[in-house]
Amino acid sequence: MSEFVPLKKNQRVELDDGQTVTVTDKLGEGGQGIVYRVRFDSGEERALKWFFVGYLKETRKFYNHLAENIKVGSPSEAFLWPEQLTKFVDGKPFGYTMKIFPKGYESFSRFLLARVHFKDAAAMVNAALNMVAAFKVLHNKGYNYQDLNDGNFSINPMNGKVLICDNDNVVGHGEYSGILGKARYMAPEVVRGDKQPDKFTDRFSLAVVLFMLLAGNHPLEGTRTNYPALTNKYEKKIYGTEPLFIFDEKDSSNAPHPSLHQNAPKMWKYFPSFLKKAFRQSFSQESLLEGRGRLLEQDWFNILMRLKSSLVRCPFCGEEIFLESNKATTCPNCKKTIKAVGYLKFDKRSNQTVVVPIFKDAVLYDYHMNSSSEDFETAAAVILEKPGKFGLKNNSRFNWSVKTPEGKIISRQPGEVQVLFKDAEINFGNKNIAQVVAND
Ligand SMILES: [Zn+2]
Repeated sequence: MSEFVPLKKNQRVELDDGQTVTVTDKLGEGGQGIVYRVRFDSGEERALKWFFVGYLKETRKFYNHLAENIKVGSPSEAFLWPEQLTKFVDGKPFGYTMKIFPKGYESFSRFLLARVHFKDAAAMVNAALNMVAAFKVLHNKGYNYQDLNDGNFSINPMNGKVLICDNDNVVGHGEYSGILGKARYMAPEVVRGDKQPDKFTDRFSLAVVLFMLLAGNHPLEGTRTNYPALTNKYEKKIYGTEPLFIFDEKDSSNAPHPSLHQNAPKMWKYFPSFLKKAFRQSFSQESLLEGRGRLLEQDWFNILMRLKSSLVRCPFCGEEIFLESNKATTCPNCKKTIKAVGYLKFDKRSNQTVVVPIFKDAVLYDYHMNSSSEDFETAAAVILEKPGKFGLKNNSRFNWSVKTPEGKIISRQPGEVQVLFKDAEINFGNKNIAQVVAND
């Protein structure tokens, strides 16, 4: 095997289709290789990931694997997917081109270290929704994300857009499982060596990523797991044989360490009961030791939509809060109690409750207008407040039909506001109806 020679500025590199690109700049360097900026003769620019020789054990196999991923194509825009391979010469380094990383994105690990913060809670929830959407499409393409780590994600803190990079690690069937340092994202049964990664173990990995994104710490790293050095033996214990959720309801022996895990206790108190329940179910002993009760991507999507529509501002201090729909919420900032007058109740989706609290500025999205919609960005309605009453403003493109408690039918066009009477029903079309439920 020849030694690794970095590329030089103005060096030309041949691609597998015979075209050449010119190296113009170095963009970065990681454990696997160096990323350069390259230019096609047409002037178009790309990034070129150039692998260190010796990093790859089975070079030809890996090259073919990349070629296969390129052929299948990028699952969605969220993936910085390999586009074109350089020409393969046995024993010589090679690489692949991909789009250049856009500005404004920050590595997920920087969020976890609290070096970067989301602009607001809405951006954070959007990031969670974008991750669920990205992994759903990755799954549908037949890949699994066993090689997941926090270096794979970059997030725009302003809007929650997510980019998934280093996709050359996306593989089909457990080739790289067991690598030290990635066990944090693996299902315990994979860490224990009981099982190869599959869709059930992937569901676990997704819950870990979502917890880390929303809570800022790892769900299984608490007081009990504070070892001086993370050896293989301890790693197996923490993530495999004796895993315990830091907010386990029955056993608090692995609660967050007061000086090591400061994000999670701070964030957890903002979480509404349904989100806490979802995480407690995902990291219950049944899930950790027997693989039972894990949530599907579709479940998470519905839970996160509920979270997004529960986002309002505390009327006393102005802090962003997640408001419960049918019980009192204590503002984590000013400690005052806030309770919605009622909520809009839709049919369940993937057996998850779909509700929106009736509270000033709560937003409904295209998702709420049509039960088959997964559009979580287009605002379609907003709740307005006037002294003594609440209304729902139609910001969608469609007419609604409202059935009053007396059985009268009223049509509400785009731009109009419907006053929310107890027991009224709002029909958004497509058999999608919200009931106005009053709280006691
Ligand atoms: Zn407050």
